[in-house]
Amino acid sequence: MDDWQSNRRIVLPKSIAIKKHHLDTLVKHAKSTFPDESCALLFGKDEDDQVKISEVFLVENSQKSQTQFSISNEDLIRGYRDAESAGLDVVGIFHSHPHSEAAPSAMDKRFMEVNPVVWVIFSNKSGQFKAYVLENEAVPLTIKIV
Ligand SMILES: [Zn+2]
Repeated sequence: MDDWQSNRRIVLPKSIAIKKHHLDTLVKHAKSTFPDESCALLFGKDEDDQVKISEVFLVENSQKSQTQFSISNEDLIRGYRDAESAGLDVVGIFHSHPHSEAAPSAMDKRFMEVNPVVWVIFSNKSGQFKAYVLENEAVPLTIKIV
């Protein structure tokens, strides 16, 4: 198996492209679970240095916590199946920070190591979205609204 076929990233993304109505859906989701964190899987495709998001898959924060989130195995399995049947990949993980800025926490960074996809964070506090990939440190990506 060569590099191209493996899951290893060859080019680190510099940006994500996401539709306005998907951002709206994520904001609504984050508001509906407030004061707890919300989470979702992001489906789409890696295209060179851009990750294109074409579907959001809302899931429950099984921890129901204001500072942490986790996604149940059932939801993960369902999500990966859905993505696959739509011909898409799970390219990102979304969660919200109800009470802090949209920057990855120390725990987020540990989980980013295990889940090397794009991490999108919404802050209910600032109303801002930020996207990151982990490369030694959490590197911010440009968010292109398409
Ligand atoms: Zn977080």
